[in-house]
Formats: sequence, C-alpha cells, structure tokens
Amino acid sequence: MRTEQARPVRLENYRPPDWLVETVELDVSLLPTATKVRATLKMSPNLKAGAPAPIVLDGDGLTLTSLKLDGSEMPGDSYVATPDSLTIAQPPAGTCYLQIETLIDPSANTQLMGLYRSNASYCTQCEAEGFRRITYFPDRPDVMAVYTTRIEAEKSEAPVLLSNGNLTESGEVAGTTRHFAVWHDPFPKPAYLFALVGGDLGCVEDKFVTMSGREVTLRIYVEHGKEDRCAWAMDSLKRCMRWDEETFGREYDLDIFMIVAVSDFNMGAMENKGLNIFNDKLVLATPDTATDADYASIEAVIAHEYFHNWTGNRITCRDWFQLCLKEGLTVFRDQEFSSDQRSRPVKRIADVRALRAHQFVEDAGPLAHPVRPSAYSEISNFYTATVYEKGAEVVRMLKVLLGPGGFRKGLDLYFTRHDGEAATVDQFVQCFADANNADLAQFMRWYAQAGTPEVTASGHYDAATQSYRLDLQQSVPPTPGQPHKEPMVIPLALGLVGRDGRDMSLSLESGRPVVRGVVTLTQAVQSFDFTGVAEQPVLSLNRGFSAPIKLKSNVPGEDLKFLAAHDSDPFNRWQAVQTLANALLIENTATIRAGREPREDAGLTAALGALMAEPDLEPAFVALVLAMPSENDLAREIGQDIDPNAIFLARAWLRAALSSRLAPALRETYRRLDDGSPFSPDAASAGRRALKNACLDLLAATAAASAIALATRQYHQATNMTDRMAALTTLSLYPVPERQAALDDFYRRYSGNPLVIDKWFGLQATIPDPATLDRVKVLMVHPAFSIANPNRVRALIGSFVQMNPTQFNRADGAGFEFLADTALALDSKNPQVSARITTAFRSWRALEPVRRARAETALRRIAAAPNLSRDLRDIIDRSLATT
Ligand SMILES: [Zn+2]
Repeated sequence: MRTEQARPVRLENYRPPDWLVETVELDVSLLPTATKVRATLKMSPNLKAGAPAPIVLDGDGLTLTSLKLDGSEMPGDSYVATPDSLTIAQPPAGTCYLQIETLIDPSANTQLMGLYRSNASYCTQCEAEGFRRITYFPDRPDVMAVYTTRIEAEKSEAPVLLSNGNLTESGEVAGTTRHFAVWHDPFPKPAYLFALVGGDLGCVEDKFVTMSGREVTLRIYVEHGKEDRCAWAMDSLKRCMRWDEETFGREYDLDIFMIVAVSDFNMGAMENKGLNIFNDKLVLATPDTATDADYASIEAVIAHEYFHNWTGNRITCRDWFQLCLKEGLTVFRDQEFSSDQRSRPVKRIADVRALRAHQFVEDAGPLAHPVRPSAYSEISNFYTATVYEKGAEVVRMLKVLLGPGGFRKGLDLYFTRHDGEAATVDQFVQCFADANNADLAQFMRWYAQAGTPEVTASGHYDAATQSYRLDLQQSVPPTPGQPHKEPMVIPLALGLVGRDGRDMSLSLESGRPVVRGVVTLTQAVQSFDFTGVAEQPVLSLNRGFSAPIKLKSNVPGEDLKFLAAHDSDPFNRWQAVQTLANALLIENTATIRAGREPREDAGLTAALGALMAEPDLEPAFVALVLAMPSENDLAREIGQDIDPNAIFLARAWLRAALSSRLAPALRETYRRLDDGSPFSPDAASAGRRALKNACLDLLAATAAASAIALATRQYHQATNMTDRMAALTTLSLYPVPERQAALDDFYRRYSGNPLVIDKWFGLQATIPDPATLDRVKVLMVHPAFSIANPNRVRALIGSFVQMNPTQFNRADGAGFEFLADTALALDSKNPQVSARITTAFRSWRALEPVRRARAETALRRIAAAPNLSRDLRDIIDRSLATT
C-alpha cells in the first residue's frame, strides 16, 4: 500500500513545479514479473518557480536499481530513494540528464494502475497518478514533456508493441527471441497521458482523410477472434472525427490513431495521446451481443476519448483540481455529438435523467463537492458525476448565456490562446468573457459552490394590464464545508404558452429584450414583468433544462397536463408528465406507509394515452414518457425518512393501474412495432425497439399470464440482444417459473462471452426479491465471476448496491453488511473499485431511522478496519462526517 503523504492536497497551495522535464526517453523491457524500465529525463530548473530547489520525484511502490546523473552513477549518499519518492537534495544548477532504472512486476499489479497484465497482454493506466508506478517522475499534469518510448518483448508473447505518437523504428533484437519498437510523440504531454501496450492482439484497420487532406491510419486492437465486433466502434470513430472538424474546426494531428480494447480496466476508457485504451465493453458490439444502449454508449465514449485530443491533451489541466476543465467540456462535446447523430430531445432527456440520478444525489449527500473541488485526499475519488456531468452542464450554460455564436467564439479563443498549455478553469471561462465582452465573474460560482440550486417560481397574471409577473427565488442548500452560499447565475429558458398551444411573444416591461427566450436569474429574489400578454398564459420554465436546478413552481396540475399535450419544448412535455407522476407517487408512498389505499390520477393516465396516440411523436420519446420515475428518482425527490419498500409498492401499484387502463393501446403499439424488420443500430430503429419494449414492460406490470407469455415468446424469438434482454428484464421482475427458465437459457447461450454474462450477473442482482442477496452471494462463487475483474464487480455487486433499492436497503441491514464485507475484501486488491462501490452509502442519512442506524453500523465497521486504502478511507470518512 501507499504510505501516507501529506494529505489532503489543497488548491490554494498550488505552486509551479520546481523542475521541468523537456524530454523523456523511456526504454521498457517487458517481462511478466520483472519488467525493466530505464527513463532518461532531460530536466531544467523552472525559472518561474524562483529559487533553486531539490529535485523531488514521485514514486508509488517502486524499486530503484540504478541512478545516473549526466551519465555517471550517483553515489548512494547523494540521493534518497524510497518506494514513494526520489529526492536529490543538491542537484546541478542548470539542465541535466537523469537516468533512472526501476524494476516492476506487472503480474502482481491488481490495482490496474501503472503497468499491468490483462489476459496475457501488457497495458497501462496512468491517469491520475499511475505513471509514478512505472518510474520516478514529477507526476503532475503541468509538467509536459516530449516522449520517445522503446519497448522490447518476447516476439511470441507480445508481437504487437504500441505507445503514443508515431512509430519510428522496429526490429529484432539480434541473437535473442525478442523484438522492439520505438514510438515518438512530438506533442508535449503530461505523464498521465502516457500509454504502452504489448500483446498478441488482432487488429482492424481503416483510414480517415482530415479536413486539410492528411491521411490518418485508424486501428482498433482486440483479442484475436473479436475483430468482427469492432465495426461499430470504427464507424463511430470516423463519424466523430468528421463531426469535430465540422462543428468545432478541430483536426486530428498525428499520422495514426489507435484504440486498444482490454478486458481488465478500472474505468470506461482513457484518452492517452494517439493510443486510447478502452474497457472492451465500450468497443465490442454485434446485434446478438450488444443492446441499443451499448451501441449508444460505444458511440459516445469513442467520441469522448477522441475529443479529448483537443480538450484534455493539446490543452491539459494545470492540476487535478481543474479536472472538470477537460471532463466537463469533453462530456458536453460528446453529448452534442450524440444529439446530432441521434435525437436531440431524446438525448437531452436521457442526459438529465442520468444527471438527476447520479449528480443530484451526490450533491444532496455527504460526498457533495464543487465542480472544481478545493481539496482532495485521493483524486481517484473525484472522477464523479459532479465533475463530469455537472461540469458539462456548466459548459452548456455558457452556450445558453452567450448563444451558439458567442460560445463558438469563446471556444475558438480558448484553442488558440492555450494550445500546448496546462490551463485552469479560470483561463477557460476568461476566453468566453473576452470573446464576448461579457462579465462572467459571478458565473464562476458554478465551479466553486457545491449543491443543487433550488428555484421557486410563481407567475401572476393581471388581465386588466395584460401583464404577467414571474417571481423567482433561488437558494443553494448547505453542503460539507459550505454552510452559506451566494446567489448563482441561472439562465432560464422559458415560454408563455397561450390557450391555442402557441408560444406568446415575450417582451419585458423594462423594454429589455428576451434574447433567445432566456431570462437570467442573478439575485436571490428577482421578478420579471412581461407586457402585452393577451390572456392567462401557461408557464413553461427551464425549457430544455437550461440550468441544472431543482424547480418548484405554482403551475397547477391542469396546466401540467396542458404542457404535456402542447408545449413546443419536448423536454418540458416530458417533464410535465414526470412532475405529475412524481407528485402522485410521493403521495401514494405516504399513503401506503400510513396503511391506506393508494389512488390513481385519471389526468395522468389520459395524458399518457394521448401521447401514445399522437402520430408524429418519436417512438424513443414516447418510450421515455411511459417510463415512470424510478425508485431511486422517487427516493431523491422525497429526500428524507425514506422507506424503499413503500416507494417500491407505490410504483408497482401505479404501473399495474396504468397497465390495466392503457392495455389496448399498449398491445396495439407493441403489435405495430413488432414487425420483424432486420436489426439496424441507427437511432430511429433503436427508438422503435425502445417503445415496443416499454409497452411490453408496462403490459406485464399486472403480472397477467398473457403478458408473461408475450415476454417469454419475445425472449425466445428475439433476433437481437436488445429485444432478448428487454424481455428477460421484464420477466425478472415477477416470481414466475418462466423467469428462472429464461435466466438458465441465457447463461447457456452466452456462457462463452463475459460481456454478455455481465448482463446476466447484473440482472439477477437487481431482482426486487428478498432472495436476491443470497443469490448474489452464490453468484460471487460462480466460475464466471472474478473479483479481480472490475467489469464483473460492477455488474454483480455494483448493480445490487446501486440499482436494487429494496434489497440493498433491507431493513435487517444484511445488504449494508454485504457491501461492507465486499469492500473490505476488495480493498487490498483494487482500492479504486472498493472505494467506488462504497459510494452506494452516499444517501444513508436520508433513510428512515431503522435502516439509517443499520447503515451507520456497517459504515463504522469499515471505518474501524485496519489498513484501509487511502481511497476507501476517504469515502468512509466523508460519508460519516457530520459537517
Ligand atoms: Zn474524459
């Protein structure tokens, strides 16, 4: 384990590096348990940092075998080398060459950080602080160097040798069975973007001609036999390269772009310069093995990592506090790409659902932190929904505030002003201010203040003066370390909808124009007066979710039904249905806890029926409307004293009621869409499958034998994974014999395909049944399960703790104890993954008292265990903290 360093690290203590590295010559001789690494660093004192300083390099579990300064072996008393650092107290006054040799064991690396082995291949993961597990180095993103990497390995073991940049040389090592390759990356980069791969891999190759006419070789490397599953990833890559040229004028810069898919990976994928390394679940897809959701994620993540070449690599982060500079911006870019490739409204609704499900929940609990944190103990724990998804929302608000043209001007300035630099969030926002002559000082609070802003809106119509006053109030709840908040800049896109369903024209009494339909709230309390309003309008506020806030308004239920039917903004049509359903389900949850009968809302049922009958609506949109708020959505909306069982019952009861009322329309829509057309992964086809499967799922909500039979038939006759998995998911919710039969059949069909078996693990973990915890424990000793593989852990344990609210939050505490046991067992092997699954405790304080006490007991048991990793310690300490 890492020894304790001076933690936490604080943004306010940032100092420029004392020493810079101009070039890195790496020579890596691969052997499974004893890989030799020789690093030659050309180092110079940083004139900006001031007085001469010692050279202090980071390490993590390293063994130094040799150290030379300017070609001569250094005497043992002239430096101090520990596993975690290398210090030269009295270095030369000027530029010097430091040659460092270390010996590392990739096979013993179960943390999957640094250089490790995955299925007999060597690969690396260096973000955030993994390069220091390969060699001693100033492992911070503001030290950018030009890398030349020579890799040597047994030809039989690793015929493919890859690193960043362009291949400059390769050949045999005379008189041995080994060979080598030399890669040179001309673009200075921080160490976290270094990558190396060695293995016996298959390859798919294609070409791309850039906007300036350069030909780029594209390669995707996979395990042999999986080459035919790369077509979608390659197609996505070419589309996103073109899109970035057309949308943002960004062209690719090396002669080759490579993606390597590996099966043991802590994250989704990694944007190493010219050599992206991917979790194979985000590369491999065929209609029989991947769902539409998998296709969409592959497209999005291939694009995300590619887009990092400009937003992350060419311009990187000065320090890890600026992580959102690359992640928030790049998530925004990949969301825009997917919106253009697919349906913009459907993508927006899906993104907002994910934001609320992950980020709003994080913001409401003990792990809340600003988009740009001001301190961290372990940076790995800050790869969060707040940094990524809320970070993307903050970038999107810049576009809402400045308009598409102003936004593009700001981004263009950012690319010209900071190319080749390690930048900060302040510098990024300053580009938008400078390019638009705008004052964005108050806007910066989005980066500094944690918590989801709450906006209360109430509208008042005065028929006599034909005016409409919109009163707004905002507040941001307290979060750890931030008891008091200042008002935010909140851009609210709005419409006043007339009784004919049309948007009225907006003019403010002050004479100020309402630009692009957006009013901007900047004060704690503020009113906007609209004139020339001929009749009582219906307020449609925060259209397109223009700001990531919680909105409470005095729009009555009747008006929500009107918006569901007529709003010109599709997001708010969907939102109107959600708001109605949330209100009913929250009321019914309380009713059930009080031992009384829940009720229906005929208006909600009618609204859903009308939306299903509307011929021009996109099927994918209707599918989203039919999906009632999830159990986790409802828990988040209720916010305190949560009883997951009551929520489950309320939701199941409403779904059954809707199923009965809407059965003819559901059956008719299902029949119409079940047309046997051949599989195509495009968005329109995926949308039709989504609606068909939403109808199936709702039809089965009464557990009627006819619906179970329909799901069983679809399961067996499916010609693609989307339909098969959807049918199995529906069956999994009901204790019928067909469920187990289908699960057994699924395992037999796909037992040779670990990524598909992950779906099987995950689905069984989410069955809302008291037997599920025992089932999960049995599956942990299943031959196909391995606790060393992060995908298996996420599929089985991650699904249970994140997506099975009634069973993880069992009133007897057994779910909490299971998570505590698993996190502790995993911690010494892979601390990042153990910390990640433990964040499932993040809402423990919101539970009802019995469950809350059980959760606290489990958390305190983890806290008391000896030798916790820094990763897990950090999550536990913050989860238990009282401020
Ligand atoms: Zn990223």
